[in-house]
Amino acid sequence: SLSSFISRSSSSSRLSEFVDAKTELQDIYQDMSHFLSSFVTILEESILLEDLQMLKKLCNFASKVEAIQNVLSRNRMKVAFFGRTSNGKSAVINALLHEKIMPSAMGHTTSCFCQVQANSTDEPEHVKIEQEEEHLELSALNELVSAHSPRALKPRTLLHVNMPKNRCSLLDYDVVLMDTPGVDVTAQLDDCLDSYCMDADVFILVLNAESTISGVERQFFKEVASKLSRPNLFILNNRWDVASSQEPEMEQQVKDQHMERCMKLLMDDLGVYSDEEQARQRIYHVSALEALQLRNGCNTNPTLQTQERYLEFQRFENDFSACLAESALKTKFGHHLLSARELLTELEATLITPLIAKVNQLIKENVERRQDLNVEIEDRQRENIEESQEFQIVSEELDELALDVGRRVLR
Ligand code: GDP
Repeated sequence: SLSSFISRSSSSSRLSEFVDAKTELQDIYQDMSHFLSSFVTILEESILLEDLQMLKKLCNFASKVEAIQNVLSRNRMKVAFFGRTSNGKSAVINALLHEKIMPSAMGHTTSCFCQVQANSTDEPEHVKIEQEEEHLELSALNELVSAHSPRALKPRTLLHVNMPKNRCSLLDYDVVLMDTPGVDVTAQLDDCLDSYCMDADVFILVLNAESTISGVERQFFKEVASKLSRPNLFILNNRWDVASSQEPEMEQQVKDQHMERCMKLLMDDLGVYSDEEQARQRIYHVSALEALQLRNGCNTNPTLQTQERYLEFQRFENDFSACLAESALKTKFGHHLLSARELLTELEATLITPLIAKVNQLIKENVERRQDLNVEIEDRQRENIEESQEFQIVSEELDELALDVGRRVLR
């Protein structure tokens, strides 16, 4: 059926690996934090174990663990979208979300950076300018990000579009989608690019299949590639529905031309891939608009070509999800896992082992003291017996003496 055709996607299984790993790591750090606070309590409450130096070290460990816990809870998988204005970046994001959330219209230009993500709490959907407290209605989004609106935000602004958990499954899997102003604008915003986008796990270049890659787009990605050793880069030739219908008989030829140009970009210009097949696998011909219309129920009677383009969109979705999860697991959690191991080793060497040695020493001293006490008691008892024996003798002697005295007096 149409609905099973539309929902057929395996991207979620790969993305859940990230979420599962995050939960597992959070549990490890939670346990560590729990043990540390138990140790601190023991040290604080026991007079015998009193050791300020050790207590200080333990508290240091506890704050390190807490800092990592904070970073961990903020760790998400990030995807950044780039491309010239009107190539369909917002449309791709909406198709991935199954819902039109980002303003996407002809002539509309996104003026700033927009980060779409799930709420960390149970708050309703809202928009928030970074570093400002106020929660704005989602409906304000259009005005805030439209370059031509009087309320338009400055290009350097980062806008958070916060959606309730469970609303979009992609966001519920801890994925953050970063929409950017057109590359012509973004290219001039070097500092924003560094702070908002360079930590992305996957970069998606959205091209317009009706035209060729521009010099600005090429130059822009050269800069990205020079900053990151090997960015995970996907190329979408979007609006393929329009481009392929212009000259249907030329479809394959146009596609081959796109392929050749995109492969040249990935391999020769950027040096991201050396293997031709690998590069070819990262290039897609899609229609984001059609994908969204199928997903939000606006198109219930897709043509064969639309279905084919949709399958290609799903291939893109599955591939980038797998790449995203794999990359985020490695770059984000690999480090925390290592830190956990290092922290535990250090904790054992500098604190736990000495602490156990100290407790053992205390036990030994206690046993010895008890033994000493026992010896003392035995000595006392022996002395007592000797003393009482002496008393006995003395009293007998006294008795004899008294008898003697009595006898003498009687005489
Ligand atoms: P952005 O500036 O890169 O974010 O581009 P938008 O997402 O705003 O898209 C610009 C215009 O192109 C909008 O009117 C979209 O509806 C339209 N559009 C986007 N993707 C496609 C597509 O694949 N096919 C068609 N026919 N129109 C599209």
